[in-house]
Amino acid sequence: MTLTVHQFPCLSDNYGFLVRDEATGKTACIDTPDAAAILRELEDLGWDLDLILNTHWHPDHAGGNLDIKAITGCTIVGPAEVTRIAPLDREVAGGDTVQLGETTFQVIESGGHTMGHIAFFDAADRIAFVGDTLFALGCGRLFEGTPEQMWDSLQRLAALPDETRVYCAHEYTASNARFALSVDDGDAVKARAADIFAARERGEWTVPTTIGLEKATNPFLRAPALAGRVGAAGEPDARAFAAVRSAKDSFQG
Ligand code: ZN
Ligand code: FE
Repeated sequence: MTLTVHQFPCLSDNYGFLVRDEATGKTACIDTPDAAAILRELEDLGWDLDLILNTHWHPDHAGGNLDIKAITGCTIVGPAEVTRIAPLDREVAGGDTVQLGETTFQVIESGGHTMGHIAFFDAADRIAFVGDTLFALGCGRLFEGTPEQMWDSLQRLAALPDETRVYCAHEYTASNARFALSVDDGDAVKARAADIFAARERGEWTVPTTIGLEKATNPFLRAPALAGRVGAAGEPDARAFAAVRSAKDSFQG
């Protein structure tokens, strides 16, 4: 089982992802930030689209569903909340699996940014598509869910193998790094922030990241260790996470 990932920037700071199961040529699109850009990439690659996999209902993730289905006839799979903006062919939730040729995606419940947010994990290739749940040095804003829900979601992702490549839906890493430095003065985060600023200067992408790198440096995953820095010393882990999240929400970096 080999999954090829084709990544490309679109909209202002989203990434689009087209994935292909090499054994069968079956192709999927992870979220649909920009229908025209995705259709262009498919044409350039000579790939026929079989499936759309949605992580959540936000328009920069599901807004291209209808236009892409109209042209490709693909099947749309996602969490029930996507039906707020477009119909689904199949609703999935945490614990389900989705097949793309010989590649199996496990659906991981990852609510918090939105209530019904899900992630897709290909265990054979150690590849995860996490939408707006986990970012490089960051995490999604809590538009709908509670800090406890988001903390649980992040813990489910942190439990994946360290070498898992994590495909986040946005390039937010430089601003995330500025915030990370404000709550964590450890050497690991300093070194990573320096790498990130240099990479962005060169115009390079910082996605994908890995679970191991995020566990070592992401201030949201490290919230319990940073609790004292955000006024949450001695609080339960989810409260420490909530304090880091609200510090980021008001951070002027
Ligand atoms: Zn979103
Ligand atoms: Fe988004």
